[in-house]
Order: sequence, then C-alpha cells, then structure tokens
Amino acid sequence: MSTPLLQVKDLKVAYGGIQAVKGIDLQINQGELVALIGANGAGKTTTLKTLVGMIKPVGGEILYDGQPTARLPSYAYVKHGLAMVPEGRGIFSRLTVEENLQMGAYTRDDKADIAIDMERVYQLFPRLKERQKQLAGTLSGGEQQMVAMGRAIMSRPRLLLLDEPSMGLAPIIVQKIFEIIRMIAAEGVTMLLVEQNARLALQTANRGYVMESGKITLADTATNLLANESIQHAYLGE
Ligand code: ATP
Repeated sequence: MSTPLLQVKDLKVAYGGIQAVKGIDLQINQGELVALIGANGAGKTTTLKTLVGMIKPVGGEILYDGQPTARLPSYAYVKHGLAMVPEGRGIFSRLTVEENLQMGAYTRDDKADIAIDMERVYQLFPRLKERQKQLAGTLSGGEQQMVAMGRAIMSRPRLLLLDEPSMGLAPIIVQKIFEIIRMIAAEGVTMLLVEQNARLALQTANRGYVMESGKITLADTATNLLANESIQHAYLGE
C-alpha cells in the first residue's frame, strides 16, 4: 500500500473552552473523493480549516504525504498542494474573474504552465471564459462558486478541500457544480468534500465519514452509507 495522501490521527480542535473536534481519525488515499457529512455545527468546517493550517489543533497529528504538517508555516500549505474552496466562496469581488484565477497561482512562477492551467479552467468552466473581464462581485452565486473552484485549481492542488459547494445554489446549478467535481476527480485530483446535501455528496464520493458533535461516528464506502438505514433517516430524508 502506498502512503495515504492525508492521515489524521486523534485530531482535537478547540475554540477557547469549546471543543469543536474531539479526537477524530481520517484517511484519504491518492485519487479518492471522500465526503464528510454531518449536521450544522458538527465540526466539519473546523476540520477543513485545521487541515489547511488556518487553525492550529490542540491535539493529535496530521500527516500529509507521510509528513507531519505541524511545522509547516501557514503560507506553505498551498505550495505543498493543499487547497481549500471555502464556504461562502471567499472570492475577491472587486477583481475580475481572470484576476481571481491568477490569484490562485500566486505561489507559482512557472508562467507557461500557469497559462495552460488557465485554459484548462476555462475548458471546465466555459462560462468563466465568457466573463473573464467581468468583476467577480457581479456574478451569480453559481458563477462565483466556479471562480472559487477555478482559483483553487490554479494552485495545482494534490488535495482539494471543498466546503459546502452547493450552498445557496439552485438545484440545476448544483448539478452542474457536481458534474465539474466529478470531472476534477477524474483528472486524478484527490478531494475531501464537506456537504449538507448528503445524498449528492455520497452519490459522488468513493467513501464517506459521518461527523456528529465533534466525533466521527461512522466511516464506510459511499454505497454502504447510502444503504444504511440510520443514515437514511438522519441525513437522507427517508
Ligand atoms: P456548518 O455546517 O454550520 O458550518 P460545521 O459542521 O462545519 O457546521 P463548525 O463550523 O466546524 O461546524 O462548528 C463546530 C462547532 O464549533 C460549533 O459548535 C460552532 O458553534 C463552534 N465554532 C465554530 N467556529 C467558531 C468560532 N470561531 N468561535 C467559537 N466557536 C466556534
């Protein structure tokens, strides 16, 4: 077996006295698309933020490519191929679409490859090509999600963390965004997907983790989780 791309051991994260993540274990192998599902406040966003170095854990260990990330300075995460598409997109609304995408490549100096990746993003999102000179703040929610995903792709991620990509989007746009998530996965990018829409997340992912009150309560293949009665009742509205 090759080393997992990401290994999380007994991770604990707290906000002051509030324990948001209470000792979780996760593993993501190269090329996998893994879903993390759970109710509001379960600790999913906190987990993602900790994985990209935005929050320092109070306990446990994160191994990325077999190496502990504890000593990595925050700015180095992107350079090492860890990228997050945050909840609420976090795009630069007063920059154009193209400028937002260029921001994603800020740690890179390989100009020719950056140009190739820009074309690749425009192939994935033809809509963004049409609007490349438009200010990102004037785009629709779905288009802004595309900008956020395109910007992350511009960093050439090895592990892409997506936080609630469907949030606030019309169902038809959600379908489009998930189609693109599948295309990115098919290109070999490893992904961890946090999503309120548990059904869609599990229909898209290979494996899934269920998080409740700061703990992982279930880990299984996506197929088994979709067939699991307690998951169906709690998260799939059946
Ligand atoms: P959501 O889907 O609502 O984003 P989540 O599963 O991502 O939920 P988190 O946002 O990680 O959950 O929150 C986990 C817990 O930590 C919650 O109890 C939340 O109130 C708390 N929390 C989150 N951010 C902070 C913060 N900045 N300061 C204090 N407590 C926080």
